[in-house]
Amino acid sequence: MSTLLKVTDVHVAYGKVEAVRAVSLDVADNEIVTIIGANGAGKTTLLNAIMGILPLKGAAHFAGQDMARLDIEDRVMAGLSLVPEHRELFSTMNVEDNLQLGAFRLPKAATANAFERVYTLFPRLKERRKQLAGTLSGGEQQMLAMGRALMGTPRLLMLDEPSLGLAPIIVADIFRTIGELRASGVSVLLVEQNAKAALQIADRAYVMELGEFILNGSAKEIAANQRVAASYLGFQ
Ligand code: ATP
Repeated sequence: MSTLLKVTDVHVAYGKVEAVRAVSLDVADNEIVTIIGANGAGKTTLLNAIMGILPLKGAAHFAGQDMARLDIEDRVMAGLSLVPEHRELFSTMNVEDNLQLGAFRLPKAATANAFERVYTLFPRLKERRKQLAGTLSGGEQQMLAMGRALMGTPRLLMLDEPSLGLAPIIVADIFRTIGELRASGVSVLLVEQNAKAALQIADRAYVMELGEFILNGSAKEIAANQRVAASYLGFQ
């Protein structure tokens, strides 16, 4: 498996406060990697810095390119995509129009295929394609946010807390789809507080505390780690 994303000794600060410290991480082709950790550990900050929304110090490469030379749009064009925690849909536009916005980097001829692919992954979105995004349920909105990101045919999809606020049955649905994505050749970097669900689906995991990675390994090893079990798996 070749490495798709590699960040080495990365720091991200808000003014003088370092929210991410000396973090190194990699994601290979066809891999699901999860970052688990408590509120405020720095997970969102790290994803935003990888996307280019926040500046980072350290080395970062995506698909063989030095990310220091890439702005957000270049990163999208290179195949990187982020589904933010708050989904950021256009609530007064319908499902289809929200998806269309995600296809801006595609040649027109490829758009129909992208719609087909997203509607196959999320049949619910097809049923509701004329419904306004603001009137969808929480789970459907998460599907739409993921669908919109997938319209750009990314190589690496970064998901920030996809399970947030959703009922367990919907979470299971979303996580099943994440597994299907890997099977279709998309790598996933998944930030989750629902450590149990994340570790069940991921190949590898990093555990983040107070801005630093304190553990990493195969998802199986991390799930079996006593400290992880005590801190993150106890109440789920
Ligand atoms: P959560 O799961 O609650 O979103 P997280 O692990 O994603 O947590 P971050 O949101 O990355 O954590 O926050 C990391 C640290 O950076 C926290 O201490 C937070 O208060 C701080 N922080 C986040 N955003 C800002 C900001 N815009 N300005 C200053 N500090 C910030």
